[in-house]
Amino acid sequence: MSERIPFNKPYLTGKEAHYIYQAVYSGKISGNGQFTQRCQRFFEERYGFGKCLLTTSCTDALEMAALLADIQPGDEVIAPTYTFVSTVNAFVLRGARIVFADSQEQHPNLDPELVEPLIGPRTKALVAVHYAGVACDMERLAALAQKHGLFLIEDAAQAIDSFHDGRPLGSFGHMAAFSFHETKNIISGEGGMLVVNDESLRRRAEIIWEKGTNRAEFYRGEVNKYGWKDLGSSFLPSDTIAAFLFAQLENLDDIQRRRREIWDAYQRSLEPLERRGWLELPRLPGYATNNAHMFYLVCRDLAQRDRFLDFMRESRVVAVFHYLSLHESDYYRDKHDGRPLPRAARFNDCLVRLPLFYELAQAQQERVCALVHRFFEAENA
Ligand SMILES: *Cc1c(COP(=O)(O)O)cnc(C)c1O
Repeated sequence: MSERIPFNKPYLTGKEAHYIYQAVYSGKISGNGQFTQRCQRFFEERYGFGKCLLTTSCTDALEMAALLADIQPGDEVIAPTYTFVSTVNAFVLRGARIVFADSQEQHPNLDPELVEPLIGPRTKALVAVHYAGVACDMERLAALAQKHGLFLIEDAAQAIDSFHDGRPLGSFGHMAAFSFHETKNIISGEGGMLVVNDESLRRRAEIIWEKGTNRAEFYRGEVNKYGWKDLGSSFLPSDTIAAFLFAQLENLDDIQRRRREIWDAYQRSLEPLERRGWLELPRLPGYATNNAHMFYLVCRDLAQRDRFLDFMRESRVVAVFHYLSLHESDYYRDKHDGRPLPRAARFNDCLVRLPLFYELAQAQQERVCALVHRFFEAENA
């Protein structure tokens, strides 16, 4: 029987355990230690981000963003429906109503054209998710946010080291949230980061991060005692997590290089099938770079997608579909305003992701590609 090819395999650079050992024996293993600060500085220097704060997850970073945007019960937040739960759950926790927006025709990202009519007097924030690390149309979304006085928040969970017209994703919003979950390009098991670009939010961000106290200022010697200043929670990870992450960041260029190589090989191999009109491959707008977070294809319909998944499973390759529109989820169905969102529905039904991880060997990838060819040739025979 042929070897099973998983969908993902977390990649270790080799230095993770070494740095964790250092963190453990440094005598400070709680949050905001040496490795935390090294990681935060890495992002601030490499991408010119505003203040960076490591968090225990992207989910937590988004919860911080909702607190910083001062979301109140009854406020409205516009977000795509084709996304992960955490994109909107953070705002629902503060009492917001989510006004879901549809995708672009050819890409799961928000369509700015469809966003503007959703903006009303109660709208407080707009959340842009860069699906597969491909930039949303940030120029138009930023213009909308500015015109209507909204917070622009980037869910950049998948968008590390990706750009819009040369400017890094995560630098456009008032705030941006990244993920280092083991399924992302750069990992720490669970982990995330909040980027606070808006100067006026930075001090409060640090307080919210430290349980609502100004402990960070106290440790820097800026105040002689610290106390309760605001709402907050324990959003900061142990320094051992940051130590793991730092080993990954040191290898970021190599990780990205290998992922792009794999992505390009998929594109080259499967392009002829797209030219015959048998499937759709990812379409990148001219302003967006590719950080090779994900390689997906779009089938003709749900039945074909299910046949494809069965065929791959029987061939011992793990391919997986992705999001189910949040406006149709068990939790939100009754709260949604009833507008159909048909473009997202097509991605719900037809999108499939192929294995993509650093250690995917060339021979393994060739096997995946041969299977995709065999399936679509049989479908179109
Ligand atoms: C992975 C992901 C998240 C959640 O990240 P965690 O670090 O697991 O909390 C949120 N939004 C999107 C778009 C994601 O892909």
